[in-house]
Amino acid sequence: MNYESTRGSQLKKTGAQAIIQGIAEDKGLYVPEKIPALPVKIEEMIGKSYKEIAFEVIGAFFDDFTDEEMQRCIDGAYDSKFTASDVVELKEAGGAHFLELYHGKTAAFKDMALSILPYLMTTSLKKEGVTDKVCILTATSGDTGKAALEGFADVPGTEIVVFYPTGGVSQVQERQMITQEGANTHVFAIRGNFDDAQTGVKKIFNDDSFAEELAAGGVRLSSANSINIGRLVPQVAYYVYSYAKLVGRGVLKAGEPMNVVVPTGNFGNILAAFFAREMGVPVKKFICASNDNKVLTDFIRTGVYDIRREAREFYCTNSPSMDILISSNLERLLYILSGRDGNAVRGLMEKLDNEKVYEVSKEVREALGDFFGGFSTEKDTLDTIGKMWSENGYLMDTHTAVAYKVYQDYVKETGDTSTPTVIASTASAYKFAESVASACGIGPCKDGFEYVSALASATGVKVPYGLKDLDKKPVLHKGVVDVPQMADAVREALR
Ligand SMILES: *Cc1c(COP(=O)(O)O)cnc(C)c1O
Repeated sequence: MNYESTRGSQLKKTGAQAIIQGIAEDKGLYVPEKIPALPVKIEEMIGKSYKEIAFEVIGAFFDDFTDEEMQRCIDGAYDSKFTASDVVELKEAGGAHFLELYHGKTAAFKDMALSILPYLMTTSLKKEGVTDKVCILTATSGDTGKAALEGFADVPGTEIVVFYPTGGVSQVQERQMITQEGANTHVFAIRGNFDDAQTGVKKIFNDDSFAEELAAGGVRLSSANSINIGRLVPQVAYYVYSYAKLVGRGVLKAGEPMNVVVPTGNFGNILAAFFAREMGVPVKKFICASNDNKVLTDFIRTGVYDIRREAREFYCTNSPSMDILISSNLERLLYILSGRDGNAVRGLMEKLDNEKVYEVSKEVREALGDFFGGFSTEKDTLDTIGKMWSENGYLMDTHTAVAYKVYQDYVKETGDTSTPTVIASTASAYKFAESVASACGIGPCKDGFEYVSALASATGVKVPYGLKDLDKKPVLHKGVVDVPQMADAVREALR
């Protein structure tokens, strides 16, 4: 299986090379030449463990890894760091199946991929005989940063640098990052929003003279954001797993479709669901849920991606991990839906850079018919959390609540009440304790940490181990930089 760029470069890479590089030479993103078929029939997956399914799915994409290498990656990643009985949980509440992906170390779904990426990365480096140090650059809207820091902390041969938007993450999320231990970890707040952070990181990647400067010191850059294919592929596994689970529970017969609802920011998680369908998992609709930053809702409904100032503002919402206007992974979907037309995709991405708006072709727009786009306002999100808690005793975080609200809208709009639906539940409610507590009528409290304790005593839901005693940990990272100084921050980190 080789990997090719979404922007038409003819240079193909192995899985290991694509993982090490992160982003293609022509600034495109790597996609597999052909999405592999499920290596094992659904019927044979019923009853298999998460690790067994992950081994099959991830192994099918990265077939340049030996079985032994892949097994070592899987075993290192999905161990007792995950507190669920089988890595994830699939729980029924309010007429939907919640796929809880947040039982790892940092209490968000980013752990699903970022606990294995360091293993995929170090294995790739060994396979390719790379002796340079790899510096992982990461822009975060809150959850990727911490999950990447935990994954790469003290991994030999790596440095990890994280940029997060000041004031753009929750108090718990910020504290998780700035208390990170590990000699190779570096965290900076930037004055700007997530898009500024992500654009800044991409700019550093595309700066050839900076790359040469680093290379002279034996360092190369890579990414832990979902622009890295090594971050995306592990996420495909949990959609295959949930389908097998639903069949195993008799909710579905093998071959019948499910719907998937994903609270979406950078479009990585929902794209993983799309990859799962391309592998052979029956999915009827991909329901793409946004908050007030609803550029994707509008795009799915009109075929026009518009981030011009006059078209929309950027909002800081109570689901901050989705406060994003430039959804990187959409590029991969456009590439596949356009029949792998790299020139067309490059044209659209250049238009987005220069004019801040583009419109897709009629064919792509038709191909988008399997996607449903909707959004939830901050108030609707809180109401949804409160109602679910009081009626069903099920506690959702703000992002998952955005998804559930949009699912309800989908049912109203389409009348599709019968298709079993999996909702990607992306974070523990405790990461957004203040919003969730207020939604359930708890508080007021004096800060985010007090909200955590108040929410725990009122609901009896266990606080994830990674979030305990955060307020007592020493702050180890205090840097704040302007966007133009991000490259200097990387230099400082590498010194
Ligand atoms: C990152 C994140 C999302 C968005 O996921 P994408 O893959 O970027 O679309 C949603 N919810 C939470 C809690 C997240 O951390």
